[in-house]
Amino acid sequence: MRVFVLDKNLKPLDPCHQARARELLDKGRAKVFRRYPFTIVLQDRVFEASVTHSHRIKIDPGSKVTGIAVVQEETGRVTNALEVSHRGQQIKNSLESRRSLRRGRRNRKTRYRKPRFLNRTRRTGSLPPSLESRIANIETWVRRIRKVCPVTAVSQELVRFDLQQIQNPEISGVEYQRGELFGFEVKEYLLQKWNRRCAYCGVENVPFEIEHILARSKGGSNRVNNLCLSCHSCNQAKGNKPVEEFLKKKPEALKRVMAQAKAPLKDAAAVNATRWELYRRLQSTGLPPEVGSGGRTKFNRKTRGIEKRHWTDAANVGASTPERLLLNGVKPLIVKAKGHGRRQRCGTDKFGFPIRHAPAQKFFMGFQTGDLVNAHVLTGKYAGNYTGRIAIRFKPSFKLTTGGKSFDV
Ligand SMILES: [Zn+2]
Repeated sequence: MRVFVLDKNLKPLDPCHQARARELLDKGRAKVFRRYPFTIVLQDRVFEASVTHSHRIKIDPGSKVTGIAVVQEETGRVTNALEVSHRGQQIKNSLESRRSLRRGRRNRKTRYRKPRFLNRTRRTGSLPPSLESRIANIETWVRRIRKVCPVTAVSQELVRFDLQQIQNPEISGVEYQRGELFGFEVKEYLLQKWNRRCAYCGVENVPFEIEHILARSKGGSNRVNNLCLSCHSCNQAKGNKPVEEFLKKKPEALKRVMAQAKAPLKDAAAVNATRWELYRRLQSTGLPPEVGSGGRTKFNRKTRGIEKRHWTDAANVGASTPERLLLNGVKPLIVKAKGHGRRQRCGTDKFGFPIRHAPAQKFFMGFQTGDLVNAHVLTGKYAGNYTGRIAIRFKPSFKLTTGGKSFDV
């Protein structure tokens, strides 16, 4: 894990080793600029007098966690890594609770209120708030990293599989001719097509094997419409029997398998709206975005013998991944999206009746809810030193949360 470095005019330089950063700090040649991600600012160096190398931000967007890796393109060193947890479900839950409170209120006999339906408009291409927040989280971190690191390119995993490559495997590159990458793309394609279930018995969450519906030994081809996904035991049991014989006792399963085998998957099945929207926004940052498929990511990770993490997947996105990725000593920064608080001033009890009112003011004595602080409590029951997240309480004290407990300081 490396430390981000800024010159004295706050222009980004190459990230440096942490021992080097410690030395610079000890000698007084640098000061701490930011804690998360750890960034130092040099006091005596300007950008023009230094050499910087190109870095690439690589993103593997996920529904709960997104992996982000910063890779130095020349050496293949992963200089920094992040794992950002999104709050999609939380947003959905709170919108749903608001909705049910409002619904309840409408159905009760209350004072006359003007109709408030049929008065909403929606921007074209807008996403639901829970998905929008995921994109916003990623955009935020791309912007933050660009401020402290000389980034020249960005890579993103856009699709699960690359249909173009599956249909014409001979069109490009050594990897495809060797057939390995092809296999990974096909596996991702089949996982999507057969809904991550065994085609014969429907079992989920087991290691799947690629299975020829008409066996190779009986003249079956390697084309994707002759392939399906099966669990190990079904694959063994079927052997080279024809599928009609194997599923003789389960006619509806046979019908389903035959119908599904014929239905080709469209390219569109491999992408989702969130990833496309993210791609559009990354384009608008001015960095050239490279896109990769999930099959490519897995191929890169497996051929380099790297274990699966969110951030290692991110480091392996795209065809630009260097032959050797240097991952030694990288610890990802664990980031959790916390939101920006809420605008609701009126707190209600579980029946929707107002019971408290929050002030509109967000800052108190220079602090805001969510700030990480180091508190020296001198007297009282909780005397001691604490580091944690505070919530403002408009008393001369704050609520401090640390290690699962909270108290007033
Ligand atoms: Zn099975």
